[in-house]
Amino acid sequence: MRDTRDEESVARPGETRLWSVPAQGPFSLALHGGAGGRIEELSAERRESFEAGLRRAHGAGRAVLADGGTALDAVCAAVEQLEDDPLFNAGRGAALAADGTVEHDAAVMDDDGRAGAVAVSRHAKNPVRLARAVLENSTHLLLVDPSRDLATGWDLEVREQEYFVTQARREQLERIHALRLAAPRHGTVGAVARDRRGRVAAATSTGGMAAQSTGRVGDSPVIGAGTYARGDSLAVSCTGEGEAFIRGVVSYDIAARMRYLGSSLPDAVRATVHAELTAKGASGGLVAVAPDGSVVAAHNSPTMFAAFEGQDGLVLLT
Ligand code: ASP
Repeated sequence: MRDTRDEESVARPGETRLWSVPAQGPFSLALHGGAGGRIEELSAERRESFEAGLRRAHGAGRAVLADGGTALDAVCAAVEQLEDDPLFNAGRGAALAADGTVEHDAAVMDDDGRAGAVAVSRHAKNPVRLARAVLENSTHLLLVDPSRDLATGWDLEVREQEYFVTQARREQLERIHALRLAAPRHGTVGAVARDRRGRVAAATSTGGMAAQSTGRVGDSPVIGAGTYARGDSLAVSCTGEGEAFIRGVVSYDIAARMRYLGSSLPDAVRATVHAELTAKGASGGLVAVAPDGSVVAAHNSPTMFAAFEGQDGLVLLT
């Protein structure tokens, strides 16, 4: 088990930090826990808690893949763990909108072009499951403000707002309001996987930007922006300033560079992060997997929480 230390994982302004690892076996899994943090804010104790959460989520997704499960099942299992962990900005403990409520966005996609997404989800305990249920049960792709009855009708667990809203997030919102902070705090969780049969899939789930306007939808549930999968190129899940990811159609831009320019996954990621984020003054990061099982994690934000397998075991970025 190797933990990547601060110096290696912190991006200075204008820099992109990028990790590129070849397939470490018959399946691959990479996940992120958001690109919103600043390294100096993380005490050793808190950092350990984040690392434990990332390990748990990676373990959950990996177990599915080791059992011969699909990439789609694996990314959902990993993201579900992160949604249940109040430390991460998704599910329980998600960032609060300006009115103090939680509104989730989530999406899943596999390399058959099957996708499901929800925006402004308020009831499902695990928004990623609701997105998956849209993929499985509906002819539609993206549902906004899906009703409680829809979730229960699909046998999904639902919760009241009190479950999602944590004390830490209430305090964060108070600080933002009191200090009139200009830059909203963000974060998101996501996972990408390649299974034993060579299939790839991606899932992303978020509470969006802290103090965002009620009804704001970010990039996470927008296919081609924050979430995307395609058999001839990649599966990718993003985190960061959602508006920039939507404007730059970031996930799709990476796939397009691979398909039309013949770029490798790391080259395509580096070029897109530079052109669509850094050059436009925006920040964020992503994890991606190619059909050959190679994995890329990258961010131009100061930090990004992530976990993926490297040569010497699990690599944790915190
Ligand atoms: N991309 C998310 C959004 O804009 C936030 C984040 O990933 O930090 O909603």
